[in-house]
Amino acid sequence: LKNADIAMYRSKEKGGNSYHYYHPEMNKRSMHRLSLEINLRKALERNEFHVYYQPFVDLSHGEIFGMEALIRWFHPEWGMVSPAEFIPLAEETGLIIPIGNWVLRQACIQNKKWQSLGNHPLRVSVNISAIQFHQPQFVQIIEDTLEETGLDPSLLCLEITENVAMTNVPYIIETMQKLRSMGVFISIDDFGTGYSSFSYLKRFRVHTLKIDQSFIRDVTFDEENAAIVTALIAMAQQLKIKSLAEGVETKEQLDFLIMRGCDEIQGYVFSKPISADEFEILLRENKQL
Ligand code: C2E
Ligand code: CA
Ligand code: CA
Ligand code: CA
Repeated sequence: LKNADIAMYRSKEKGGNSYHYYHPEMNKRSMHRLSLEINLRKALERNEFHVYYQPFVDLSHGEIFGMEALIRWFHPEWGMVSPAEFIPLAEETGLIIPIGNWVLRQACIQNKKWQSLGNHPLRVSVNISAIQFHQPQFVQIIEDTLEETGLDPSLLCLEITENVAMTNVPYIIETMQKLRSMGVFISIDDFGTGYSSFSYLKRFRVHTLKIDQSFIRDVTFDEENAAIVTALIAMAQQLKIKSLAEGVETKEQLDFLIMRGCDEIQGYVFSKPISADEFEILLRENKQL
């Protein structure tokens, strides 16, 4: 259907006889998608992407111990385009491979720079889409990037979602094993929203379980969410995996998580994702929770 949409648009452009299929809503949507795709293809070479960083805070010390690299697209006419809008398209078109490699590289370069400025070692987390992870050269790309940027492997964490684990389990176990033996950390992102079973947690041996923000949002007034979050933290503890709560916005949510023994948090209660320059200021101020 997607290719058909594009073909329809092209034939219309040439004054072709696409009126047979004309449907205003569908056409508007496919035009939007096409224009987004054309612009996305050019965004890398036009330097329209930036990497923002959002601190991770350790609840036992209240200090920043790492950060998540989050891509930002500043389009010259449209302004900021949300990753929620363009990442799915980048995944569908395969553009996530060059874009993802670029983010990985930037994050490693930046983290190395912060380290050489004398900051205590921070671990940078990079989001990895399923199709990136499933590339045969994936481990090699990680190895090369670490070598070229000089970043210590233990200062890099890869965030993968549960859907990575939906197919070809032996390949995933092998890849995770290689990454682990290199010293790279692995988190499971958006935990609880995907399709994986709990046995995967054991088999894949991740370092951190990131509890999805949809459970955190109502945690202080929704009993079910409170029960789920409590259970996830306890389970992580038993499995000797770190628990990290995402999307923590309020003091009440924070207190709830501290009471339940959550290890780490990320969220507006501490800081939004910010530019590298702004992040450097937080580090210099030694901001604490
Ligand atoms: P994610 O990996 O789950 O990232 C966390 C999202 O939660 C980020 O949205 C972050 O800004 C947002 N967030 C953090 N704290 C709070 C909070 O306290 N309240 C609320 N309401 N939101 C909070 P963002 O940056 O818009 O990214 C959206 C998604 O796009 C990410 O979700 C991730 O799936 C994807 N993404 C972003 N950058 C990359 C990238 O470089 N590569 C890939 N493959 N995906 C990326
Ligand atoms: Ca993430
Ligand atoms: Ca997440
Ligand atoms: Ca998410």
